[in-house]
Order: sequence, then C-alpha cells, then structure tokens
Amino acid sequence: MSARVLEIADLTVRYGGNRVLAVDGLSLGAGEVVGVVGANGAGKSTLVNATLGWSRGKPVVSGRVLLDGKDVSALPTPRRVAEGLLLIPEGKLIFGTMTVEENLAEGATDPGPDRRAYSAEDVYSLFPRLKERGGHLGSQLSGGERQMLGIGRALRLAPKALLLDEPSIGLAPKLVSTVLHTVRELCRDGLSVLLVEQNVKAAIAVVDRMILLERGRIVLEGTAGEMRDNPRIAEAYLGTQ
Ligand code: ATP
Repeated sequence: MSARVLEIADLTVRYGGNRVLAVDGLSLGAGEVVGVVGANGAGKSTLVNATLGWSRGKPVVSGRVLLDGKDVSALPTPRRVAEGLLLIPEGKLIFGTMTVEENLAEGATDPGPDRRAYSAEDVYSLFPRLKERGGHLGSQLSGGERQMLGIGRALRLAPKALLLDEPSIGLAPKLVSTVLHTVRELCRDGLSVLLVEQNVKAAIAVVDRMILLERGRIVLEGTAGEMRDNPRIAEAYLGTQ
C-alpha cells in the first residue's frame, strides 16, 4: 500500500466516566477509501469528530492523529483544516444564506505542491448540477445538492484526507450512487477518504477497505471483498444471508 496519509493511534474519547471510543491502528493510504460502518451509537461520528479535534459537549480525548506523518493531535481544528484534514459533518457544512457561488468562493491559500487546489470550475465539472444552481442560496438546495456543495467546499480547501460523515443521509438512491462514485473518482487523483456510512450496500461498492465499529471499538476489518463475504456483515448489513 502507498504512503499513509492519515494514521490514528490509541484514540480514546470519554464523556464523564464513559469511554465511547477506543480506536487504534486505523490508517488511510494515498488515494484510498476506507469505510466505517456500525450501528447507531457505535461511535462513528465520535471517531471522525475526534480525528478533526472537534467535539460535541466536553469529552476527554487522548491519542494521536498523524497527517502525512506529522502529529496534528495538539493542533486546534482550524489548524488541522489548514493542514489538509477536512470533515464534512452529518449536517453538511454549507452557508444557507450564501449562494452556491459564494459558498465556493473561498479556496486554500498556498496549499503547497503536494495538495491539489480545486477551483470552483473544477467543482462544477465534477458536479454540473451545482453550476446550474450557482445563483441559488444554500438554503434553497435539495439534500443531494447540499451534499455536493459540502464536498465542493472541502475540495476548494485542497484536502489531503477527507472525512465524510454519512453523506447518503436523506438522499434518493440514485444520488447516493452519484455522490459516492464521484468520491471514488476523486481518490484516483490521490485524495484519501474516510467514509462513515449507514448505507453499507452503497458504501461497499466504492471502498477499498472497511471497518466495523461496535461500542467504540474496531471489531472487524477487511477489504471490500472480505467484508462482503463476511457472514456478520452479510446478515446484519447486506441482507444477503
Ligand atoms: P449515529 O449513527 O446514531 O450518529 P454514531 O455511531 O455516530 O451513531 P456517536 O454519535 O459517535 O455514534 O456516539 C457514540 C457514543 O457516544 C454514544 O453512546 C453516544 O451516546 C455518546 N455521545 C456522543 N456525543 C455525546 C455527548 N455530547 N455527551 C455524552 N455522550 C455522547
């Protein structure tokens, strides 16, 4: 496998006395898509939020997050973003009172030679629908368009690693496939993606590897093919056993 873009070691999150996350040895190679699946409350959002140094409430977080070998664990979220670690949270992160064009106006300043700086035009060619909606406010967009805009905004900031939290939520099946396959395409340009999905069937079609989280821990991991053939995954998530 190619160089590791993202490495997560001994990452634990506690709320009060409760340890809700204990993840060790999770990594993302260059151009790799790794899926994260698990039941409600398994800790999927906690994992991506803690990776970005972001949290709801006041958890106690410990462990290491390395981006391209550099330990970013002590950096506040905006600094991690500037380094190329981007999260699109479950609620998407777009400005409802700004137009699509305005949402895409801000790009990375001087991201360096190893990061691709996507222009607004690059985003429009990935998602032609956004060009058609350029003058509309974020609040006027459909769920699918918001998801595309969220990804577009992240791309403008030249991500090395993109964390996507449940991009399929609220989307029609055809759009789920469009969004996930576009994410897959981006990885051919070298982007690395950690994809949290409750739609395991859709996710398994685009990931290289997948992990199953239970009570905040990795209980199963493998390639897409291995996970598809695993009886636990097949029975609980794919309905194929
Ligand atoms: P879902 O698919 O429902 O979003 P999830 O797998 O993303 O679930 P998390 O939201 O990460 O799960 O939650 C993991 C655990 O952490 C749950 O037991 C949840 O109750 C707990 N938790 C999350 N946020 C807080 C908080 N602010 N305060 C206390 N406990 C929290």
